[in-house]
Amino acid sequence: MKRMTDRAEIVIIGGGIVGCSVLYGLVRSNRTDCLLLERRNLASGSTWHAAGNVTRFGHHTGLTRLYADSITTYLEAERESGQGIGFHSTGSLRLATTPGELARYHALAADFRRLGIEYRVLEPLELEPLHPLLCTDGLFGAAHTPGDGHLDPTGATHALATVARASGARIRTRCPALSLAPASDGWEVETASGTIRCRQVVIASSFWARQFVRPLGISLPLFALEHHEIITGPSERIGQLDFELPTVRDPHAPSNIRQEGSGFLCGVYESDPVPWATNGIPEHFAEELLEPDIGRLEPHLLRVIERIPAFGEAGIRAVNNGPICYTPDGLPLLGPVRSRPGLWLATGFSIGIGTGGGAGRFLARWIADGQPPYDLPITDPGRFPDGLDADTCLRRIIRTYANGYALAAPDD
Ligand SMILES: Cc1cc2nc3c(=O)[nH]c(=O)nc-3n(C[C@H](O)[C@H](O)[C@H](O)COP(=O)(O)OP(=O)(O)OC[C@H]3O[C@@H](n4cnc5c(N)ncnc54)[C@H](O)[C@@H]3O)c2cc1C
Repeated sequence: MKRMTDRAEIVIIGGGIVGCSVLYGLVRSNRTDCLLLERRNLASGSTWHAAGNVTRFGHHTGLTRLYADSITTYLEAERESGQGIGFHSTGSLRLATTPGELARYHALAADFRRLGIEYRVLEPLELEPLHPLLCTDGLFGAAHTPGDGHLDPTGATHALATVARASGARIRTRCPALSLAPASDGWEVETASGTIRCRQVVIASSFWARQFVRPLGISLPLFALEHHEIITGPSERIGQLDFELPTVRDPHAPSNIRQEGSGFLCGVYESDPVPWATNGIPEHFAEELLEPDIGRLEPHLLRVIERIPAFGEAGIRAVNNGPICYTPDGLPLLGPVRSRPGLWLATGFSIGIGTGGGAGRFLARWIADGQPPYDLPITDPGRFPDGLDADTCLRRIIRTYANGYALAAPDD
């Protein structure tokens, strides 16, 4: 094949929901000379098998903005592209299983008011009409965010990409970035068909990013873990309802449970999660799921059944196990690599559907304006000490994942 040199102002590496969202944000900020490279197909990483849950509930103002902006961004992209994103506006309930959780939910109310997000803290008795299948025994209440729901992550990715393309940005699929090197006026990205010269590069390649930037002497604090979701058969109890149930996040299980058709879909946070491909992502890994291990989920599922007995009656239809990217505090790496001018990160997303739309908008504004649109130190890539060793990084990742829906301390 003839090798050629191409140019773009900004190259984005990775065409999952996050990379496409950065691309969409850039064209919305009038930066259209952008080229996105995707090694396989758009959404073929973790995005295609995600449950698609999106919430506006964050424990920190900046994070809540990312969440809220994500839903807004996907709906905007749907309107502009005509590509459906399948948003189900069901609302969600975050259960208070201890008095401490309830107190935190009350303390967060001022934040939501300031951001104009509908939010209420409910008594156990108020939950029954919203979720008649929920057993409220032992509950202290729940936080209710009515604008939440779930959507089709692949549809949302394509909606973002369609608008970006129509605005002049380019997307090249089946085109892995092979390496990256600094050049006199920016960066050179090597691909099988040639070199691409650019001023700025955004790494949006999730758990692939760790090995990709290692040759530059950068050690990213992220790894992949196995993450399970269970889909049940039809539930008779759901069949009797004339509305869709809200998503439930239960810190005691810990798990999220929502309606999927006439059954349930449940994502489980294991207490002893299993890391995946810590020595490097297999070269040919693509659009694949991992071997499920339902035995490991049993203690969690028993708690889910206690909370929603109908879940236990519906019978398991499918168990999906997919790799999920994690950083030591569970939050993404979003911003510049300060020691390498022109190199940006939008990676490390474990709730990439929930935060991707807002994160793309945030990073694009930062790139286009030279400063972030608002302060977001909790996702700044520089928040981890340089040279955090792999063992410590993985240990913290495992602890964070296992904590599930436990809220970080107020000043975290
Ligand atoms: C079972 C399961 C359920 C989940 N449910 C939810 C949920 O309900 N809500 C939620 O918010 N999150 C959920 N997640 C997490 C969510 O899937 C991820 O956070 C999200 O998809 C991350 O998006 P991304 O764009 O960062 O990564 P990816 O979708 O993995 O995209 C990265 C892309 O980069 C490409 N790439 C890698 N290396 C290169 C290279 N060198 N050159 C070019 N391209 C490259 C890959 O092919 C890939 O397409 C779930 C995860 C799992 C496993």
